[in-house]
Amino acid sequence: MSESFVIIGDGIAGSSAAETLREEAPDADITVITDEGESLYNRILIKEFAKGKLPEAPISIHDESWYEEREIDLELNTLVVDVRTDDHEIETHEGDVYEYDKLLLSIGGTPQQLPVENSDADGVHHFWTFQDARAIRESADAADDAVIVGAGLLGIDFAAICGAQEIEGKYLMRGNRWWRYALSEEGADLMHEAMLERGVEPVFDSGVDRFETDDDGHVVAAVDPNGDRYECDFAGVAIGLNMNTEIVEDTDVETDDGILVDEYMRTSVDDVFAAGDITRFHDVILGERAQNGAWGSAKEQGTIAARNMLDPESEEFRWVSSYSITHFDFPFLSFGHPTLGDDEVMRKFGDEEWRRLALKDGRIVGGVLIGNLAPQSGYKKLMREGVDVSGQKELLMSEDFSIDDLEQEAAAE
Ligand SMILES: Cc1cc2nc3c(=O)[nH]c(=O)nc-3n(C[C@H](O)[C@H](O)[C@H](O)COP(=O)(O)OP(=O)(O)OC[C@H]3O[C@@H](n4cnc5c(N)ncnc54)[C@H](O)[C@@H]3O)c2cc1C
Repeated sequence: MSESFVIIGDGIAGSSAAETLREEAPDADITVITDEGESLYNRILIKEFAKGKLPEAPISIHDESWYEEREIDLELNTLVVDVRTDDHEIETHEGDVYEYDKLLLSIGGTPQQLPVENSDADGVHHFWTFQDARAIRESADAADDAVIVGAGLLGIDFAAICGAQEIEGKYLMRGNRWWRYALSEEGADLMHEAMLERGVEPVFDSGVDRFETDDDGHVVAAVDPNGDRYECDFAGVAIGLNMNTEIVEDTDVETDDGILVDEYMRTSVDDVFAAGDITRFHDVILGERAQNGAWGSAKEQGTIAARNMLDPESEEFRWVSSYSITHFDFPFLSFGHPTLGDDEVMRKFGDEEWRRLALKDGRIVGGVLIGNLAPQSGYKKLMREGVDVSGQKELLMSEDFSIDDLEQEAAAE
């Protein structure tokens, strides 16, 4: 009998796993189950749709015929409510049971709501799905004033949407700058200026204490912990994700703010794998557990999981993830784990360029580049190869850094 694979989640992790399984196991039974009403689309591009810059069609990646042609059974609008690893089966909200030989959990996360009054009011948006993007675009079209909360990589998408839709925005941040865990004030100021140019004003040492609504339950203002009131008819909240681990709560699959997997994407239970945002994986570069919330990493994990489902321990996940922001006139890239490490080097060049590297035990573990991405491939190579750069900080921060300079210096020593 052919082996059966069940994949929960049709994001990029689940979908790339299905594709790899079909390529490498032509006779396998493959089922992909998703609670969304549409098959794989480009989650990165939904912000361009919400900005009003892109129509719907180019955002879709696979239509349903893609699955039919590959004889992959796709179940849309189907929520998995229970995983029974002892019986090798899962159950859906409609009571349908699917048996598996191998199971992949590529179930990602769900945006967190602010734990404040009226955080579920009409006009208060969270951003994860294409459906969210449609609602955001419609709401933004009709809005004049907005409030944005969440000083990270998804929050800034809301700022860009406000800019593109000509909404006056107040970006309420808890600290004294945007993405304070990865950027210094100097670096963050470049981002603040870009926000201001688009009509979005950063407000520091703020946040949201409560939202106010009108009689119809639509948001009309956010009040911050200082008591300052910001009128808004649109609010974007991006304060992080809750990992969708509930369905394995009654199993022996180990979780800790995500599903724990090794470098082969195996969970703590035989025949159960996980891939994508949901994983807290053993990072072979860092030498410790890590989590990535990035498209390229989720795609690679899906592929690696599929290979190891077919051939145990055949390929490990070794990856430096990157995340770029393309909303502004200058490039921005973060790579690896810029919020980790025990040391750092950073430098500003002229008015428009800034760089920072996070180091751990003398090795690069992540970084952020603003204004000039030329050094990225050298930095990523050093990180991937775990090169000790502790004595090379000045060279690393030279304006036209090239990995060749580092290699030449090492050879000369
Ligand atoms: C607006 C936005 C912009 C982004 N921009 C970038 C960017 O510029 N660069 C970058 O690298 N990354 C970006 N990301 C992050 C990137 O999109 C994610 O890291 C990536 O899509 C994660 O893929 P995944 O397959 O692991 O999870 P997901 O894409 O979240 O897929 C998980 C799927 O599983 C489904 N599911 C969950 N539980 C169940 C269940 N019980 N039953 C059935 N189905 C279930 C979910 O509905 C979902 O469809 C962005 C994300 C968003 C939302």
